[in-house]
Amino acid sequence: MPTETVYGLAGSAVDPLAVAAIFAAKGRPQFNPLISHVADLAAAEKIAVFSDVARRLAVAFWPGPLTLVLPSHAQSPVCDLARAGLDTVAVRVPNHPVALALTQAFDGPIVAPSANRSGRPSPTTLNHAQEETGDKAAMALDGGPCRIGLESTVVSLLDRPRLLRPGAVTRQEIEALIGPLAEAETDAKRSPGRMARHYAPNAPVRLEADAPRPGEAYLAFGPYAAGPGVWNLSPTSDLAQAAANLFGYLRAADLTGPIAIAVAPIPREGLGEAIADRLMRSAGYVG
Ligand code: AMP
Ligand code: MG
Repeated sequence: MPTETVYGLAGSAVDPLAVAAIFAAKGRPQFNPLISHVADLAAAEKIAVFSDVARRLAVAFWPGPLTLVLPSHAQSPVCDLARAGLDTVAVRVPNHPVALALTQAFDGPIVAPSANRSGRPSPTTLNHAQEETGDKAAMALDGGPCRIGLESTVVSLLDRPRLLRPGAVTRQEIEALIGPLAEAETDAKRSPGRMARHYAPNAPVRLEADAPRPGEAYLAFGPYAAGPGVWNLSPTSDLAQAAANLFGYLRAADLTGPIAIAVAPIPREGLGEAIADRLMRSAGYVG
């Protein structure tokens, strides 16, 4: 299933067999909680308990790449496996015509973790999704290349608002609405995207590289001479363009079999926080 963030491996959030098949297809080492995708706020309120702050965020950013972690609704049909047995649930409304049409037609929450095998870069085109898990999917919907190319921002609203995963909606946009976000508590089991060496190509990744060394592929950012082995995330230093190109270029560079993939320094403000997060993990720096 295409979304505005990345391609997802979709199944019913209500059906434990479907959810188990998704974990198996991804080869996830453990059962992590998944995001339930729904058509609108009304559908979200059937699976989660919304506070005023939660509702304000939903109204401001949905449909869109913001995932809210909330107390599970007592009558929620989302299966235990999709919530990894927690009494909380992650929910969002995707902003993509195909994903929205699917959530409306299906009329129930849909889990859709990124369609890559566990630990690999997320797929941002149907082709990449097919390469990763296509043989495991019953059907594939082509929605073209993902507009954003980075996963959703995950905010937990259980005690005070916490940023669990930086993503396509920036910290600044959220804080402008609800004030300062606390940091995530380190609990790698709850957050697959927070494990060391996630989003990783086969080649090692070298960060903050002003230029490639011999044998390295290079992901440039900003003005840089084009040439073999060079992919420019954004010649005009545009962070949104870099985000959209990131996973695809990691994949393309990896296919050339370099001794490493060197990546140019990228500013960390705005979307740059999420880009830096994914790059640090693809390099295996974050535990
Ligand atoms: P994915 O569906 O693979 O994009 O990942 C879902 C993200 O949401 C991961 O970072 C999960 O750890 C996080 N998540 C989902 N459900 C919960 C939950 N109930 N509590 C905390 N984090 C969650
Ligand atoms: Mg993922």
